[in-house]
Amino acid sequence: MPRRLAAIDSGLVVERRRNHWGWGYEDQRFSPEQVRAAAGGLAAHLGLGEGVEVEDPVALEDVRLPPARIRPPADLAEICADDAHARASHAWGKSYADVVRGFRGSFEHAPDFVVYPREEHEVERVLEWCAAAHVAAIPYGGGTSVVGGVRPEVDSSYNGAITLDLGALDQVREIDSISRSARIQAGANGPELERQLGEHGLTLRHFPQSFELATLGGWIATRAAGHFATVWTHIEDFVESVRAITPTGAWESRRLPGSGAGVSPDRMLAGSEGTLGVITEAWVRVQPRPAHRRSAGVVFDDFARGTECVRELSQSGLNPANCRLIDQREAKMTMVGDGSSALLVLGFESTDHPVDAPMARALEICREHGGEAQERGSGAGSAGGRGDSVEGGGGAGEGSRRGGAGTGDRGPDAVGAWRQTFFAAPYLRDVFVAMGAISETFETAITWERFPALHERVTATAEQAMREVGAQPGGVSCRFTHVYPDGPAPYFTVLAKGRRGEELEQWGAIKRAVSDAIIAAGGTITHHHSVGRDHRPWYDRQRPEPFAAALRGAKAAVDPRGIMNPGVLVDPLR
Ligand SMILES: Cc1cc2nc3c(=O)[nH]c(=O)nc-3n(C[C@H](O)[C@H](O)[C@H](O)COP(=O)(O)OP(=O)(O)OC[C@H]3O[C@@H](n4cnc5c(N)ncnc54)[C@H](O)[C@@H]3O)c2cc1C
Repeated sequence: MPRRLAAIDSGLVVERRRNHWGWGYEDQRFSPEQVRAAAGGLAAHLGLGEGVEVEDPVALEDVRLPPARIRPPADLAEICADDAHARASHAWGKSYADVVRGFRGSFEHAPDFVVYPREEHEVERVLEWCAAAHVAAIPYGGGTSVVGGVRPEVDSSYNGAITLDLGALDQVREIDSISRSARIQAGANGPELERQLGEHGLTLRHFPQSFELATLGGWIATRAAGHFATVWTHIEDFVESVRAITPTGAWESRRLPGSGAGVSPDRMLAGSEGTLGVITEAWVRVQPRPAHRRSAGVVFDDFARGTECVRELSQSGLNPANCRLIDQREAKMTMVGDGSSALLVLGFESTDHPVDAPMARALEICREHGGEAQERGSGAGSAGGRGDSVEGGGGAGEGSRRGGAGTGDRGPDAVGAWRQTFFAAPYLRDVFVAMGAISETFETAITWERFPALHERVTATAEQAMREVGAQPGGVSCRFTHVYPDGPAPYFTVLAKGRRGEELEQWGAIKRAVSDAIIAAGGTITHHHSVGRDHRPWYDRQRPEPFAAALRGAKAAVDPRGIMNPGVLVDPLR
C-alpha cells in the first residue's frame, strides 16, 4: 500500500508529515529558540539592521479553515483526506508570500479535500467526478510552486476545488538499459527517484534547488531547470515520452529519441502546469553517475568581467556542466566570499572520458578575462566524491535539514560551500519570514547584448521599490543559473526588512515593479519557475495573442468543462 495511504487508513500518522506552512517536514522545523538564536547574527550579516523581533508561526490547532463546500464521493472516500493538516498543507505552494500566509495561519483557499490516487484509473475516476460535479482539480506534486501554481483559488462558478496529490505514484516502473531510459511515475520526488535509479547504477541528474520535495510530474509540468548549466538545462531535454490523463482520455506519446512529426505532444505537456491533464508517468533519459569530474572556483574582480568571461565560455563549445557566476553581494550573502569579488562556479563531468582538457581550456579563458582559479576535484579519482558536484549530497534519502553555509573561504572550498548554501536556502527562507525579512527571487533570460541594460534596470527598480514601500533595503544580488551561447539566465535575489504585518503589501509592490522592469527590458517573466497564477499578468503580455487563442482551444478540446487548474496559464473558454 502506498505510504501516505497507510497513514490515512489507520488514522495514525505512520510517516513524516510535511510542515503545513513552510519547507520540509514537521520534524525538521526550527524551534522558536533556534530561530531567535540565529536571527540577530543573520540580520547583521545580511545588512538588515539590528533589533530583530522574531515571530512564532500559528499552530495548526489554531488555524481556522474555510468550511468545505463539497464532500468526497463514497467510491473515492478511502483515498481522500479532509483533515486540517491535509487541507492546510495543500492550500499554498512555497513562494515567499505563500510561506508568510501559512506562517500567519491564513488558509482561505484551502482545497475542500485532498485525493491521493494510488493507480492511474483512480486519477481517471477523480477527473470524471470533478467534471460531473463541476469541481476544479488541482494537480499537486511536491507543492514547491513559487508562482501560485497549486493554489486552489477558483471563482464562484465552481462548486469547489480539490487537490490531486500524486505522491503515492512514486515508483520507477521500468528500466531500459540498452537505450538508457527509465519509466518513472510522476509523483516520485527527487530523492525517491534517485534512490530507485541508484539501485541500477543510474541517475537522472536533475537537481533543482527544490530537489528534496519536487517531483518528476511537477518538473515536467513546469519545465523545471536543474543541474546542467548548459545544453540540457530544462527537464524536457531528458523527456523521451509522457503519459497524462486528461478529462477526455489518455494522452501518451511514443518513445522516440527525436521526432519531427509536427508540434511535439511531449513539449505541449511540458509547461502545461496542470491545465491540460494529470501527468502520471514519463520515460526519461538516464545515465550512469559521472566517473570523471573537475570543478573550480574562479574569482573575478567584478561581475562585469565575469560576465564577459562566461559569455565566451558559453560560446566556446566546451559546454561545462556547471557555469554559475555569482556577484559580489551574493557571494558575501551566501558566505562563499567576502563581498570584494565575484565567483564563478565551474564544473565539467563525463561518464566516459577525463575532463581535464576542457577544464584546462576553460581556465585559460578565465585567466584571459582576469579570473583567478582555484581548482578542486581531479580526474577519475573524484568520481565518487559527491561533494565535487553541484548537487552535492543530492538529498537522496537524506531527508535531513542541511547544515550551515560553509567555510566562508573563497576558492576551492567556495564551490562546496556554495553547494551547501544552495540546498539549505529553502529552510533559511522560513527563518527570514519569522524575523520579518522580505525575500524574493526573480529569474529570467535575455540575450547577451541586452543583459547589461536589464541588469541595471532590474537592480535599480528593486532598490527604488524597496525604498518606496518603506522596507529597509538589504540589497539586490544576481547570479547566472544557466547560460546559453546567445545569453544568460540571470537570477536576482531581493532582500529587505519589512514592516511587521505589512510584508505582503510591500512584497506585492516590489514584485510588480520588478516584473514590469523585466518585461520592459525584453526578458521573459520566467526562465524556469513557470507561470502559475502569480506570473499571469506578465505572461499574458509576453505571449503572442494567436498563440494564447491556440492554447485556449487546445485546453477546451481536452478539458471541455474547464476543471483542470483554472486560472493557471490560460483561462478556460466559457
Ligand atoms: C526553494 C525553492 C527552490 C526552487 N528551485 C528551483 C530550481 O532550481 N529550478 C526550478 O526549475 N524550479 C525551482 N523551484 C520551483 C519549483 O520547485 C518547480 O516549479 C518544480 O518543478 C515544482 O515541482 P513540484 O513537484 O513541487 O510541483 P507542484 O508545485 O506541486 O506543482 C507545480 C505545477 O505543476 C502542476 N503539476 C504538478 N504535478 C503535476 C502532474 N503530475 N501533472 C500535471 N500537472 C502537475 C501543478 O498543478 C502546478 O501548476 C524552486 C522552488 C522553491 C520553493
